[in-house]
Amino acid sequence: MSTPPEATKTIYRPLGGDEMPRFGGIATMMRLPLVEDPAALDIGFVGIPFDLGTSNRGGARFGPRQIRSESVLLRPYNMATKAAPFDSLRVADLGDVAINPYSLSDSILRIEQAFDRIVAARCVPIALGGDHTITLPILRALHKRHGPVGLIHIDAHADVNDTMFGEKIAHGTPFRRAAEEGLLDPRRVVQIGLRGTGYTAEDFDWCRSQGFRVVQVEECWGRSLAPLMQEVRELVGSGPVYFTLDIDGIDPAFAPGTGTPEIAGLTVPQVLEVIRGSWGLNLVGADVVEVSPPYDAQGTTALVAANLAYELLCVMPGVQRRT
Ligand code: MN
Ligand code: MN
Repeated sequence: MSTPPEATKTIYRPLGGDEMPRFGGIATMMRLPLVEDPAALDIGFVGIPFDLGTSNRGGARFGPRQIRSESVLLRPYNMATKAAPFDSLRVADLGDVAINPYSLSDSILRIEQAFDRIVAARCVPIALGGDHTITLPILRALHKRHGPVGLIHIDAHADVNDTMFGEKIAHGTPFRRAAEEGLLDPRRVVQIGLRGTGYTAEDFDWCRSQGFRVVQVEECWGRSLAPLMQEVRELVGSGPVYFTLDIDGIDPAFAPGTGTPEIAGLTVPQVLEVIRGSWGLNLVGADVVEVSPPYDAQGTTALVAANLAYELLCVMPGVQRRT
């Protein structure tokens, strides 16, 4: 990560609650400045208002705006881990990718091109989706700089269908395509929270045949995921890793506003354990996807997503911790 000399470094900070009421002003992520140039940043939040890949309920196109809206209460310092992301790194909101609402294929291309620019600028992206289709073009862009990446994937679903309605690209296929295209290092892929009903009883076997570590939700029920993260850290090692968080990995009691909910999911503290347990890994990007505001009556899903996006920021390489 390129860091300019201390003297010339511009530090961006969330707008404080005493400068403008939290319900006022323009809703950027965490009330950070909107910065157009990724070269000015070490880490950038990027919205992708895309839901042309959804199979059931739509609405994830409204995710970035709602996550930003629910992020207004986030303060700069992490009281649990003492992470202080804004003290050492340049972090801001890069705005949204202009997807094509009439074309899935053109949108995928537009997302890849936007991330090519971010990655080339040495800016680490934290994407706010959007449905899970968006992770494929992000991985394509990251591959050009980092080669095959490890993956920490929280989800109710494996998202490894070959096709959906005959289509190769949809929100249930990104990790099949990513594996086929060599974007992933399959021995460094872990999928956490998988559950529910399958098209066949062997749905998760394809993942295992690739070498993915599959952690079905039953392995997580009623226990801390800190021990699992010891294993995950050894598994992904020191190579580049991407963190993708499908909000439906969390139980619909806590995150109901999503397109394909599944019962008996992860708790929010368990997901915090996974994210916080990723500190020190060579993370090259992250996303939070599948928040669908039309199904999020109280805004709780977007609130969870905003907080988890902040927690992902707090474990990115170069973030200092106060002692
Ligand atoms: Mn997914
Ligand atoms: Mn899912």
